[in-house]
Amino acid sequence: MAFDWIGFFEHFGIPYVTSGPNVAEGNVYIQCPFCGGSDPSQHMGVHLERGMWGCWRDRKHSGRKPDGLLLAILGSRSDVARAKERFLSSSFVPLAKREERREGKESLRLPEAFLPIKAFDPKSGRFSRYLRRRGFYPVSAFADNYDLRYCHYGSQAWRIIIPAWESGRLIGWTGRAIGNRYPRYKDSGPELKETLLNHDSALLGGRVLVVVEGPFDCLWVDWVGREFGVRAVGLFGKSVSSGQASLLFRLKRRFEKVVLLLDADARSASLEASRDYEALGLKVAFLPKGVGDPAELSITQVMGLADGIEPFFNGSKGV
Ligand SMILES: [Zn+2]
Repeated sequence: MAFDWIGFFEHFGIPYVTSGPNVAEGNVYIQCPFCGGSDPSQHMGVHLERGMWGCWRDRKHSGRKPDGLLLAILGSRSDVARAKERFLSSSFVPLAKREERREGKESLRLPEAFLPIKAFDPKSGRFSRYLRRRGFYPVSAFADNYDLRYCHYGSQAWRIIIPAWESGRLIGWTGRAIGNRYPRYKDSGPELKETLLNHDSALLGGRVLVVVEGPFDCLWVDWVGREFGVRAVGLFGKSVSSGQASLLFRLKRRFEKVVLLLDADARSASLEASRDYEALGLKVAFLPKGVGDPAELSITQVMGLADGIEPFFNGSKGV
């Protein structure tokens, strides 16, 4: 009986690598759960067929049976038992076969551990309460619209999963902690920075496209603004990557105006970079005084984006 590690990693959306300069044949690598945040990349190797596992950074992080590693990832013995029940299989699938299967696919799939958020489902209660508290209403319609998910265990435990679709393909996702977990957002991988959150809705066009930094800023401005022709896309950070720039360039034609709305704290950093935005033909706007990020804007202020946008351009560099 071999433990189906790849199936397990995929089920929980745990990033893994199967090829690269330091990857030995027949192994997969993940971030070492014992080293945690101090493992800057994937140093935990697992031999798929023989099952032994070990960390390159610390020899004590190793074992021969899946249990120790599973416990470090899942955090509870009952979850380990459940995982073993599901992923211990007598039919071992060699890595090459896996790769073939995966290449046939058009896009990623959302891991099965990510479940839809429903307002009246008690299992997603903490998640819908979080959304309601942030002003998203009605919760089921909102979560449905952006295909938001929740997760109870694994590496995205107690996070709201926000998937990023581009032309119908799932590129990746980020998990927003609903408690005080660090980091606030946990991305599926670097490919996320090459796409725009909410890209496919923005393809529908409108009056104003608002480009924002954070995923929840994007969801808020888009959800309350879309009735007024305001749509939003998210950058997953404070810079515009080349992939994002070319997507924005194509989206521009579908709107009367494109505005880059920056967080108050990003002000200086973005001013430096604003020449890139000029090249893209984006107007740079700043939030009104006292508003920390776009998710704190009132509905009236979002409506204002579609109309005069007067308050937003106070003190702006503009283009
Ligand atoms: Zn380690």
